[in-house]
Order: sequence, then C-alpha cells, then structure tokens
Amino acid sequence: MEELRKGLLRIVSLVKREAVVDRATVKKILRELERELLKADVPPLIVAEIARRVEERTLSEEVPPGFSRRELLLRNLYQELVNMLGGESRYEPRIRKGSVVLLVGLQGSGKTTTAAKLALYYKKRGFKVGLVCADNYRPGALEQLKQLAEAVGAEFYGDRSLPPVEVARKGVAALRERGVELVVIDTAGRHKEERALLEEVKELAEAVKPDEVMLVLDATIGKSAGAQAEAFHKAVPIGSIILTKMDGAARGGGALAAVAKTGARIAFIGVGEKLDELEPFDPPSFVGRLLGMGDLKALVERMEKARLSVEPEALLRGKFTLLDFKRQLEELSKLGPLRKVLELLPGSYQLTPELEKASAESIKRWVAILNSMTREELLRPELLDHSRMVRIAKGSGTTVKDVKELLAAYKQAQKLLRQLGRSRQARLGLR
Ligand code: GDP
Ligand code: MG
Repeated sequence: MEELRKGLLRIVSLVKREAVVDRATVKKILRELERELLKADVPPLIVAEIARRVEERTLSEEVPPGFSRRELLLRNLYQELVNMLGGESRYEPRIRKGSVVLLVGLQGSGKTTTAAKLALYYKKRGFKVGLVCADNYRPGALEQLKQLAEAVGAEFYGDRSLPPVEVARKGVAALRERGVELVVIDTAGRHKEERALLEEVKELAEAVKPDEVMLVLDATIGKSAGAQAEAFHKAVPIGSIILTKMDGAARGGGALAAVAKTGARIAFIGVGEKLDELEPFDPPSFVGRLLGMGDLKALVERMEKARLSVEPEALLRGKFTLLDFKRQLEELSKLGPLRKVLELLPGSYQLTPELEKASAESIKRWVAILNSMTREELLRPELLDHSRMVRIAKGSGTTVKDVKELLAAYKQAQKLLRQLGRSRQARLGLR
C-alpha cells in the first residue's frame, strides 16, 4: 500500500502547488491520478469512472462561500475515493454473543491465521471465543489451528476422523457447551476443482447456519479479488470480506476497489503476519491515511458544514434524494439512540424500548441497503425496479421486502419535508 500512498500524496501536493486550478489543471491532475490508481491495479473501468466523477463535480459544483476550487477538488477526490472503497460508514459484521462465523477462501489466502486474529480481536472485546478446525485435507492443519488457539487463549475443537461438515456441526455444539460465545470455523481451501470447494462451503453453511460467512481474500492478487468474491458469493451468501496481506501488497488498492465494486462489504484487513495485525476496515479513515489527511479531513468537515447550512432550503423545496436520506441516516446513527435524537426535537415524542431497538436496527439495515446502491440510484430512486432491488438486497444481506420498507420510509420523510416546506412558505407569505 506504501506505493499507492506515496502516489496519492504526490497528487495532493500537486493540487496544492498548482498556481491556478482551472479546467486544464484539473484534467492534468486527474490523468496523474489515473496513472497512480492503475499502478495499484484498480480496474480500468473504476479508474475512468472515478476520474470522470471528480472532474465533473469539480468543474460543475458551485464553490461554497469561503472556499476555493482547489479545495473543492481535494474534497471531491477524497469523497470519490471513499465511495470507491465502500462509502462513508464502516460495515459492522453480524457478530454478537452466541454467533457462529464461517471462514471461507482459497488455500493460502490466510484463513487459519485470520481465524486466530479474529479470536484475539473479539477476545479483547470481552468474548469467550472458540476455534473449530474443519480442514481435514491438509496434514498439519489441525495442529496449526490448535497451537494458534492456545496462543490467543481460545478454546479449540477438531477431529481428524470426521468429514468437515460433521466436525463443524459437532464443534459448534461442543464449544457452546464449554461456554464459548463466539465460534469461528476455519475451513479447507484445498481443492483441485473449484466447484468441489464451493460445494463443500455450501454444505458447511447449510449445516451450521452461520450468522456471518466471511470470505478471506489475498490482497496481493489485486483486481482479480473481485471475480473471486463473486464466485464465492454465488455458492453461499457472503456476509463480509477480509482482505489479507494488505501490508506490502502493491496491488492492495486494486483488490479493495474490485471487491467493493461487487457490492460486498469489507469488514477487516490483515496488515501483517502477527496475530494482532488485523484492522477493522473503515473507508474514510483508510482514505484519510492514503491522502495524508489531517488538514484535509478538517477541510472536508468545514465544507460539509457550509453545505449543510445552505442545504435545508433545498430540502424544503422538495429536492430530497435517497443520497440526502442516506446522509441523514448516517448522521442519525452517529448521534446515538433514537431517544436522544428525539429529545433534541421540539414537541414530545414517546418511544417504547422495543420500538427504540427496532429503530436503531432498521437504521443500520437501511444504511446497509443504501450502501449497496449506486450513486445514480441514490440520486434517481425511480430507477429502482425489481431486478435492481434484488441485486441491492443481495448486496446488503437483506430482502427485497427490506428494500421496499426503506423506500417507503424515504417517501414518508420526503412527504414530511414537502409539508414542512409548504407551511414555511405559507408563513413567509409566499403562497
Ligand atoms: P490458509 O491456507 O488460508 O489457512 O492460510 P494461512 O493462514 O495458513 O496463511 C498463509 C500465509 O499467509 C502464512 O504464511 C501467513 O503468515 C500469511 N498471512 C496471513 N495473513 C497475512 C497478512 O495479513 N499479512 C502477511 N504479510 N501475511 C499474512
Ligand atoms: Mg488453513
């Protein structure tokens, strides 16, 4: 990743150094950006798309008062890179006390190491964790995982005499009996035939009904990680992805972008061989580091404030897209429990504890659904026909019914804003 970081830092300093930021310089800088992204193995189509969007936005958007086009360019660059890697909000894997996680992926991708890393990560967060070895193909697999389990202080289950599906089933039961709160199942990746591997993964998933299937991908393969993610997804619904070997992977950026493009969510990245070298993947902070943020982050926040202070007017005029709705939901989830939010509003709102919990959960689900939409869909919700809804539901691990529920909530919010707008206009004597 170091190479991509250096390349992007060079772009940022180029933006800062240019005497004037006009159409020609924007184009020149974006050609440089394309070169850097291609070097990192980001798929050419994504590279072209991101350059086009940054260019279009930078040249057409109004520069907010008090800012320059140079700053607009930096802000757009940051936002489009965040978009490319999955959006503003971090995907939270469905891991709670009592969960079962199934790790799948090709041999050598880093599954066994990652199983131990996850055990350590969740142990530090107060879980009693257990590891199951469902890899009976590779000699030594059981010993490897057993030793790792000891090293991180996790329970272990393995049985070389049983077929993998049986081991997984029994392992979950046995570990639960020992009071384990999070079971992580490590599987085999070794199959000469890809189809046989996918078949086994499918059987395993049906047998243990995991709360989260995590696909482990090796980031050094660059953009082909996208095709691998899709192949696995066809066999079994992948909840999230862990990209390993991001340390020193020159093509790691390409792997991230290609995977995010499939609509899959990246939950963690592996950044070294050591067991604590696992990081939750959060696109904004990741891009921040790539661009050497700090001052840039402050800039983005200031511009966002300036934008929000003018936006309510636009909202009240009825221009309220799914993208606006998404931003509001993200703001809401940052504010914490819905009750707290309602306390900030005039009037009295009562929430039962059940409703409160349900609301927090649907907000999370809605944000996941919105994250699976393209920018175009967010801006033009009328595009959302049944087949798009199916894709979005699949990409966000929800159902078409959930997508429809979200759209209904969006329409409700839109209606409310229109009414607000009308009553305000009436008060101001405009109608
Ligand atoms: P598996 O076959 O999928 O179970 O893969 P392993 O867990 O056995 O890992 C294969 C190799 O990749 C081992 O040498 C690991 O140390 C290495 N590895 C796994 N994750 C990372 C990582 O994030 N960074 C680096 N540098 N190496 C890793
Ligand atoms: Mg292994």
